[in-house]
Amino acid sequence: MKKLEQLYEGKAKKVFKTDDPNLYIVDYKDDATAFNGLKKGTIAGKGVINNRVSNHLMKMLEKNGIPTHLVEEISERETIVKKVTIIPLEVIVRNIAAGSLAKRLGMEEGTKLQHTVLEYCYKDDELGDPLVNEYHIYALGAATKEELDLIADYAFKINRLLSDYLKDLNIELIDYKIEFGKTPDGTIILADEISPDTCRFWDSVTGEKLDKDRFRRDLGNVEGAYHEIMKRLLGE
Ligand code: 5GP
Repeated sequence: MKKLEQLYEGKAKKVFKTDDPNLYIVDYKDDATAFNGLKKGTIAGKGVINNRVSNHLMKMLEKNGIPTHLVEEISERETIVKKVTIIPLEVIVRNIAAGSLAKRLGMEEGTKLQHTVLEYCYKDDELGDPLVNEYHIYALGAATKEELDLIADYAFKINRLLSDYLKDLNIELIDYKIEFGKTPDGTIILADEISPDTCRFWDSVTGEKLDKDRFRRDLGNVEGAYHEIMKRLLGE
């Protein structure tokens, strides 16, 4: 597989074309941003950890019936993925109140939600990824009702699978953001990444934050938290 020209460079990853028109290579960076790019920094080793953690979790999901973009990890930071067009939605699932939901609804962080919450944000940096509902999504033409029903169904299944998997490792899945893409034949699959950058992971026993909130909120030991997640998931 040949890595050809760079297609795109995002905040945390680069995407390259390959000599196979149906496959891309993703290259994970150590760059970290928060608050829509206002805060910038580097988390040493993050690219390696997110590549490996995301692939590990996607493999587990794939085994349990969730179609994903994962094809093959080819180096510490690089993975071959299926070519998709990203559906411009951040799909957010929440089990425990934290972050923007805690703020918006005046709930204390850490409060167990009486029902799982599913939210959508429209991916648009200039607009700051605004919260939208189903009707906005249809109005924008971002997804059809059939597509969104499938996405919601996958999002809840992923929540059960990930929460159960992580619980055994003493990690509480507070909330997370996932993205879906459409393959050239129109199939919707899980894309992007599942990592400490995109999830809130709290230690089940101590409540310690083991995710990007350590960077966002200047809590210190950011690298240590990312390493701890990799150690618990991959045993190293
Ligand atoms: P919140 O809306 O509370 O800021 O975030 C909810 C969850 O989605 C958190 O786990 C957070 O990491 C993830 N999330 C939401 N928006 C983004 C984003 O733009 N980038 C990343 N990496 N994660 C996000």
